[in-house]
Amino acid sequence: MANDSSAKREWSINDFEIGYRLGKGKFGRVYLAREAKSKYIVALKVIFKEQIEKYQMQHQLKREMTIQTSLRHPYVLRLYGWFHDAERIFLILEYAHGGELYKVLRKSGRFSEPQAATYIASLTHALAYCHEKNVIHRDIKPENLLLDHEGRLKIADFGWSVQSKSKRHTMCGTLDYLAPEMVENKAHDYAVDTWTLGVLCYEFLYGAPPFEADSQADTLKRIAKVDLSFPSTPYVSAEAKALITQLLVKDSAKRLQLEQILKHPWIVLNADPDGTFPK
Ligand code: AMP
Repeated sequence: MANDSSAKREWSINDFEIGYRLGKGKFGRVYLAREAKSKYIVALKVIFKEQIEKYQMQHQLKREMTIQTSLRHPYVLRLYGWFHDAERIFLILEYAHGGELYKVLRKSGRFSEPQAATYIASLTHALAYCHEKNVIHRDIKPENLLLDHEGRLKIADFGWSVQSKSKRHTMCGTLDYLAPEMVENKAHDYAVDTWTLGVLCYEFLYGAPPFEADSQADTLKRIAKVDLSFPSTPYVSAEAKALITQLLVKDSAKRLQLEQILKHPWIVLNADPDGTFPK
């Protein structure tokens, strides 16, 4: 399963022993499964064709599958292959035993600086790899991040990502994580992912995203103004705030570059080089 040659073979549901349900998404369900011959554990995502057709998501799903299959990185969830029957499409995914990062964050309220820095460094490595392959994720948020059995972060869900060398014009993504250039419907590029790293870093450390407001319209206004303030808490260091401030910059050209994030003193001091948390 894990090697490249097996990705080329034709799979069917008979090749898998299906276990319990891991979760339910907008377009289908995800089950723990085991490839019958090798006993290799995977997550099997089952998507109903009817749903995909109803929402006219055929192109997006195809794009998601093509992009995710081509990516090989320790912090990007592997898509080993897929198959379909008359009603369903099955995605054979790497199993992330730690589940959603979002749930871990909600449960603990906020993360310590070493934990937050480890996730931000892992994300930065993964995004640098994606950008090198001309993939802009555009929908990085805690719900799209999973954790493996060692607490290593895995970017999942490439539904909104796009493979492009030029600037894009489509409005997409989730409000709290949107970059100002997307809010203002301007052309955007790789720097939208860098902005999102700033939003996530804030949310990891404070437990809520920085531009939260009572209405969506107010969130958009706060993003466009970069209405950023830091609650007075003793938990967050000046270095962490400095990094967030250098990422949440309106002019996308002036945001810290991914390689500069990895050299930032707060990351160097706090991030686990293996990306695992806790040890
Ligand atoms: P999704 O349809 O991708 O939103 O997935 C629905 C839920 O299934 C997620 O919220 C996760 O809790 C779980 N899930 C999805 N993919 C995996 C995976 N590869 N490993 C473990 N759990 C997963």
